[in-house]
Amino acid sequence: MAKGFSTRAVHQRGHKDAASQAVTFPIFQTSTFGQATPGQPTEYMGRKLSYARSENPTRTALEDALAEVEDAQHGLAFASGLAAVACVMNTLKTGDRVVACADLYGGSYRMFTRVYAKLGLEFDFVETTNLDCLRAAVEKPTTLVWLETPSNPLLNVTDIAGATEIARQAGAWSIVDNTFASPYLQQPLKLGADVVLHSTTKYLNGHSDVIGGALLTDSREKWDELKFVQNACGLIPGPQDCYLVVRGLKTLALRMERHCDNAEAVAAFLESHPKVSRVYFPGDAAHPGHAVAARQMRRFGAMLSFEVHGGLDSARRVMENLRLFTLAESLGCVVSLVNHPASMTHASVPRDVRLSVGIADGLVRLSIGIEDAEDLIDDLAQALETA
Ligand SMILES: *Cc1c(COP(=O)(O)O)cnc(C)c1O
Repeated sequence: MAKGFSTRAVHQRGHKDAASQAVTFPIFQTSTFGQATPGQPTEYMGRKLSYARSENPTRTALEDALAEVEDAQHGLAFASGLAAVACVMNTLKTGDRVVACADLYGGSYRMFTRVYAKLGLEFDFVETTNLDCLRAAVEKPTTLVWLETPSNPLLNVTDIAGATEIARQAGAWSIVDNTFASPYLQQPLKLGADVVLHSTTKYLNGHSDVIGGALLTDSREKWDELKFVQNACGLIPGPQDCYLVVRGLKTLALRMERHCDNAEAVAAFLESHPKVSRVYFPGDAAHPGHAVAARQMRRFGAMLSFEVHGGLDSARRVMENLRLFTLAESLGCVVSLVNHPASMTHASVPRDVRLSVGIADGLVRLSIGIEDAEDLIDDLAQALETA
């Protein structure tokens, strides 16, 4: 019988160092591996060990553990989420066209428009929350459909099954950046995606002490193609970082349940607060993506945004007066974080573009950690008094 999520996350395909039977998979801090005869590398865990850019057992342990939690056949680990994005881009060629969701992660948007567009790849950004917009966009020949859901910072939700089906019928392959949900809450491969991408920097590692990325797929052909680029372009993570993500993954289910419990409590508090004018949280029945999120996610995640009456000045006072929430970029760690999209994560987006997609000057984004919900609410309550 198929094992449950937590069992698979803890056991991680049963990898053990064969020589020592160490319960925790070791860090292979080495750049190369000796050979007994020229051209005959040692085989270990089904991989040929020659040079550590090509194969490192700690990385193999992580890649298999990542594949296990995403319920994928094959995994690859990268030096960062953006290194995983770059790996995908390097499998494309001049003239290929990518249709991506409009509110794409800023770093992916910057790479597409400022690095790969000048190499002759074509990018179009469309409102994928509306499948008719996507259907219209793929009428022109399309190589790849790039999705991200829930999105940043407004938590817009795209119907993954619907969107990947439109991609397939148009002859394109599809990728879902699953960073905001984590594989515990959402499994895009089961909903028709060809590849899943993660910034493991966020929930998968979860402790804000690693930058890392991942690609997962059921297609051996896609994996071979991506693995070739991973090695050819040297996009790999170091073994210590692999070890930390292997460790983080073991508690993913526990952490996500607590993250979600806390986020639901915080969202309910903010929704009833007189100084809060609007809350963006897919768990809220009034959120436009609520029904789709309820269908394709286990729970609604732990990212939420809100606006306060009085706009930017009020919002700034709230952010400055929070004590448990750290004002910082990034998300998905055990510590709660607060972010001001207009001046931080989305500062590079021109103001009129930002406003046109609904990111107000005073919008505040929260990444809810695993502290006690009452303490997070108390902190927000005292900070909102200053608004
Ligand atoms: C952070 C993030 C990335 C980029 O990952 P890095 O590890 O910072 O390079 C990509 N996509 C999403 C949705 C992210 O939140």
